[in-house]
Amino acid sequence: MTATETVKQGPSRRPPTGGPVDLVGLDRTGLEAFFTELGEKRFRARQVMQWLHQRGVSDFEAMTDLGKGLRARLGEQARVLEPAVLSEQRSADGTIKWLLGLEDGNAVETVFIPDDDRGTLCISSQAGCPLDCKFCATGYGGFQRNLAPGEIISQVRHARSVVGDRLTNIVFMGMGEPLLNYDAVLRAIHLLMDDYAYGLSRRRITVSTVGVVPKIAELGRDTPVNLAISLHAVSDEVRDRIVPINRTYPLERLLQACRDYPLPATRRITFEYVMLDGVNDSPAEARRLVDLLAGIPAKVNLIPFNPFPQAEFQRSSREAIDRFRDILLERGMVAVTRTPRGDDIDAACGQLQGRDRDGGDSSLGAEGA
Ligand code: SF4
Repeated sequence: MTATETVKQGPSRRPPTGGPVDLVGLDRTGLEAFFTELGEKRFRARQVMQWLHQRGVSDFEAMTDLGKGLRARLGEQARVLEPAVLSEQRSADGTIKWLLGLEDGNAVETVFIPDDDRGTLCISSQAGCPLDCKFCATGYGGFQRNLAPGEIISQVRHARSVVGDRLTNIVFMGMGEPLLNYDAVLRAIHLLMDDYAYGLSRRRITVSTVGVVPKIAELGRDTPVNLAISLHAVSDEVRDRIVPINRTYPLERLLQACRDYPLPATRRITFEYVMLDGVNDSPAEARRLVDLLAGIPAKVNLIPFNPFPQAEFQRSSREAIDRFRDILLERGMVAVTRTPRGDDIDAACGQLQGRDRDGGDSSLGAEGA
């Protein structure tokens, strides 16, 4: 991590109540400040990061390279946030979905998607989502709150405890709009990239946004990880309807932010495009998409719509999706049709609702937790 990527965290982010500090959500800068405040050397931060994030240890007494006295003080003044695993579902295709309970009774979903050469974890950044995209189950569930950095990283810790080194990539594509919870997401990215935590290169981290334009520029300045744009329409008229944030940041501004994003030469911005029957899937719209993305190093992911109970749309036909993709390919775009993964456990794109299949709500309260 470079100096420009550090975030000011204040001394130890001790809760206003003065209770124990959650160490999972502190990046290296924050942990060093915490140990300095305790009168300890800063290198303790690196030791504890390795225990927490590389060895998956949560018990301070097991951190044997810390002195007995320090372990006892950590037991009094710190804690390790661990979400409750409310459910684990395994798809026939190997995808795993966890419903993780938070301390206030909310719950979020986290999905592991194994492939031949990689294992991608799709993590949530908010409990619910305020943006109300019409093709997304999360949007229909309303917004509860932003996640704390520790609540974001504890999804990764949990997944690692189950799948180990098969986890190689992280995508912020779960519940919520990551750029509306920018500081927490940035802190989580620092931990994901830190060699004393997860040591992932920025090529293996992707932030997906529906288009919070000012924050795209900020992300590019702070830590230019891979960028994915949930585009889904080629006119403001259609996009205003299915991605309401487009009324604030219309297509032209969004695409300019993409042109300005500091991409290394060999990388592309991914544009996600959900295929909705009769809404955005015509040949004319495919041609318009090529025109819109001219000059942007782009890859288009066509996503067959994954239905959910409240949805007002149908999935485009196979023929319409193939025709759309072929038009993109004929005009020199990089384009693929994404194979739905985990749709038998409602873990596919746009299906996350923070609830069990039997309909348990995402605000679980004491009863659900
Ligand atoms: S697509 Fe993303 S931003 Fe839109 S409602 Fe769903 S989670 Fe929120």
